[in-house]
Amino acid sequence: MSFFTMTKTLIKSIFHGPYTVRYPLEKKEPFPASRGRIEINIQDCIFCGLCARRCPTGAINVEKPESRWSINRLRCIQCGYCSEVCPKKCLKMNNMYPAPSFENIEDVYQNARVPDNKENNRNIAGAC
Ligand code: SF4
Ligand code: SF4
Repeated sequence: MSFFTMTKTLIKSIFHGPYTVRYPLEKKEPFPASRGRIEINIQDCIFCGLCARRCPTGAINVEKPESRWSINRLRCIQCGYCSEVCPKKCLKMNNMYPAPSFENIEDVYQNARVPDNKENNRNIAGAC
């Protein structure tokens, strides 16, 4: 690096200000291609179990007889394999960073396709 380039970089850095943000007071928007939290459209799920078989960390559990799909948030490493293999395209990665947590949270989606049991068609957090 030449002396001129170095001086130019130095002066630019002096007047630029900090490159970091004062988290949590300020938050940065995730980059467009960021991998984030897995979300399911349970209405379209056929409980085939492909996502659970493909998941490298065993974060997903599918029980077809009970029409039950669940994910252990702490185990998920946001690799995206489950959303790639889903034949119904009902899994997607939200472009958001999961909140830090010490709790072993399992999100459960159950009986979504049973009309009499619509009350259970919601996200039941903390069932682990
Ligand atoms: S791969 Fe898709 S359709 Fe199959 S169980 Fe997983 S989320 Fe449901
Ligand atoms: S993103 Fe990866 S680790 Fe997370 S649930 Fe899907 S397959 Fe498993």
